[in-house]
Amino acid sequence: MGVGDTSIRSSERPEAGSVNIPVGVWPTSSKNESVDAHKVANEVITRFNDTLAKKDHAAIADLFSEDNSYWRDHLALSWDLRTSKGSADIKKYLDSSKVQMEKIEVDKSSDYRAPKFGAIDVLGDITGINFFVTFETSLGRGEGVMNLAEDNGQWKVFTLYTLLKELKGHEEPLGHRRTKGVKHGGDPNRKTWKETRDAEKEEIDPTVLILGAGQGGLTVAARLRMLNVPALIVDQNERVGDNWRKRYRQLVLHDPVWYDHMPYVPFPAHWPVFTPKDKLAEFFEAYVNLLELNVWTSTSLKSTSWDESKKQWTVTVERRKPDGSTQTRTLHPKHIVQATGHSGEKNFPQIKGMQDFKGDRLCHSSEHPGANPESKGKKAVVVGCCNSGHDIAQDFFEKGYDITIVQRSTTCVVSSEAITDIGNKGLYDQDAPPVDDADLTFWSLPSELLKAQQIKVTKIQADHDKKMHDGLRAAGFGLDSGPMDSGLLIKYFQRGGGYYIDVGASQLIIDGKIKVKQGQEIAQILPNGIEFADGDKLEADEIVFATGYQNMRTQARKIFGDEVADRVSDVWGFNDEGEFRTMWQKSGHPGLWFMGGNLALSRFYSRVLALQIKAAEEGMIEDGEGAKARL
Ligand SMILES: Cc1cc2nc3c(=O)[nH]c(=O)nc-3n(C[C@H](O)[C@H](O)[C@H](O)COP(=O)(O)OP(=O)(O)OC[C@H]3O[C@@H](n4cnc5c(N)ncnc54)[C@H](O)[C@@H]3O)c2cc1C
Repeated sequence: MGVGDTSIRSSERPEAGSVNIPVGVWPTSSKNESVDAHKVANEVITRFNDTLAKKDHAAIADLFSEDNSYWRDHLALSWDLRTSKGSADIKKYLDSSKVQMEKIEVDKSSDYRAPKFGAIDVLGDITGINFFVTFETSLGRGEGVMNLAEDNGQWKVFTLYTLLKELKGHEEPLGHRRTKGVKHGGDPNRKTWKETRDAEKEEIDPTVLILGAGQGGLTVAARLRMLNVPALIVDQNERVGDNWRKRYRQLVLHDPVWYDHMPYVPFPAHWPVFTPKDKLAEFFEAYVNLLELNVWTSTSLKSTSWDESKKQWTVTVERRKPDGSTQTRTLHPKHIVQATGHSGEKNFPQIKGMQDFKGDRLCHSSEHPGANPESKGKKAVVVGCCNSGHDIAQDFFEKGYDITIVQRSTTCVVSSEAITDIGNKGLYDQDAPPVDDADLTFWSLPSELLKAQQIKVTKIQADHDKKMHDGLRAAGFGLDSGPMDSGLLIKYFQRGGGYYIDVGASQLIIDGKIKVKQGQEIAQILPNGIEFADGDKLEADEIVFATGYQNMRTQARKIFGDEVADRVSDVWGFNDEGEFRTMWQKSGHPGLWFMGGNLALSRFYSRVLALQIKAAEEGMIEDGEGAKARL
C-alpha cells in the first residue's frame, strides 16, 4: 500500500490521509450472573420495536448508553458504511436516514446466536448480554449483533451492529428458492445447459464489468450472479488463478483455512489448514465453473470513457483467443468494479546507480520468479521486511545463497501459531461457529473497540512469541507492535502492510542464516551491490525490492486517467468513524467501485458491494455519487 508519511514511526504510520483511530473503551463488567438474558434481551427489543413504530428517534437513542455506545450500520439505514458513537450521534444518524427500520427481533436460531449472559469481548474480560438480531427495513432484511451492558443499574445497548443481507423482492436463489434447472414439456428451441452457458459467456453484455479475477473479482461476481446482475470479469492473465500461480514458488497462505472460505462454496472439510498458492489457483478455477461466473482471460483494456449524462461506461477490450487470434469488443457497462489487487502500482523506489547494476537480477518482489537453485553461494539482498521480503529471503536461504535482509524501520512480527491459536481462536478455527456467525461477530465490533481488544490480544501473542522476539532483537532486527500496540491486524487495516506472520524466517534471522542490515537508507546501488547512508557496503548478485505497493487509486489513475482518478477518494485505511475508506462503497466517481482485500475481507464485503450495485440498478440509490446519494 501507499508508503504514507515516513516521518511518522513505522508502527503508527497509517495509509496516507487515513486516521489512526483512538482506542475504544469497553464498559465495566456486569456482575449480575443470575440475570435472565433472554428476558432482558426481549425487553430491550420490545422497547426498540415500540419506539420504531412511533418513529421516536430520541427514544431509540435513549436505549443506548449516553456517551460510550455505538451503532455500526452497514447499509441498513443508508447506503453508506457508518459507525455512530453515543446516543446524540445515533439520533442524528436516525434523523438523516430515509429508510424505515420496521422491526427488529432477537435471533434464537442457534445457541451461539441466542441471548446469553457472559463475555461480550473475545477475551472474556467483559461480561454483559450478547445476542444476534434479525431486522427488516422498508427495503430489505438483515442481521446483526447486540451487546448490552449495565449502565447505572440499567441494561443499555453498548453496541448494535446492523448489516443488510438482502433486498426485498431480490432474494438470492438459495435453499427453498433454488431454481428448477429444467423445463419439462416439448420445446423445439430447447437449449441445453451447456449451450446456454457457452452463449452467455461469449455474448454477454454486462451491466457490471469487473477488472481482475483474483479473490476480489471472483467473490463480487459470485454475489452479483446470485442477485441476477449480469457481470463479466476480464483479466489480463491467461488463466484464472494465475495471480497466485505467478507469485514466488514457495508461497503458502499465511492465514488458516477457517478464515479464508469463499462465499457459497467453502473449502471442503479435508482442505489443509494452510493452502499452497497453486492449490488456491486451482480452487479459483473450479469456483468459476461451479458458480457459472463469466470470465474472459487474456483480455486487456484498450480504452475507457464515462458518459455522465447516460451514466454509462464505454470500454474497449482486446481478447486473445486460445487459437492465437484477437477479438476487440466494445462494452457498455453501467458499473466498473476495479478488483486489480488491493495494492496499486508496485512501490519500487528509484535509487541512484540502479541502471548500472551488473549483477544477475534487480527487481520488485512482484516480478521475482524465486531463487535460482543453480546459484548456490551467490549473494542476495532483499530490501523490505514484511511477508514477501521474509518469504523471499527464506527461499534464497533454502537455495544456498548468502542472504541479507534490509530493514529501514520496524516490522510487526507475529508467529503463525500465535495467529491461529490466539488471534483467531474461538472465531475462525475447527471448533468455531459457522463462518457467517464468526463474520457477524467480528464485524459487529466498531473499529475503536476492535483496536482496544487487539491491544490485549497483541500482548498475549507477544508473551507467546517472547523467545522469538528476544532473538530477533538480539540479531539486530527492529520490532514494533503496530499502531498504539494494537498489533498486526490493525496495522493491516490502517496501513495495508508492515508486518510478517512468521512461518520460519524469523528463526533463520535469529540463527544468523539470514543477516540483517537495519535502520539505514540506501545511498546508492553499486555495480556489484548496495551502499548505505552510513557508508556500509553490501555485495549482491541479486537484489529484490519487497517494498510493497502504492494506493489502489494509483492503479485507477493508470487505467482510467486523471479525470476519473481525481474524483476518487483515497483507498484503504480508516475514516474518523473507523470505517474503511472508499473500498466496497461509493468511490466518489459514479459507476466506479473498488473491491479487494484478503480472502476474509473479500468474502464479507463482496455482498456489501453487490447489494449497493443491485440497489442502484433497481433505482433504490438516487445517484451513484458520493455522500449526496444517501437514501
Ligand atoms: C506472502 C503473501 C501471503 C499472503 N497470505 C494471505 C493469506 O494467508 N490469506 C489471504 O487472504 N491473503 C493473503 N495474501 C494476500 C493477498 O494477497 C492479496 O490480498 C490478494 O491477492 C488480493 O486479491 P485481489 O483479488 O484483491 O487481487 P489480486 O490477487 O492481485 O488479483 C488482481 C487481478 O487483477 C488482474 N489485473 C490487474 N490489472 C488489470 C487490468 N488492468 N486489466 C485486467 N486485469 C487486471 C491481475 O492479473 C490479477 O489477476 C498474501 C499475499 C502475500 C504476498
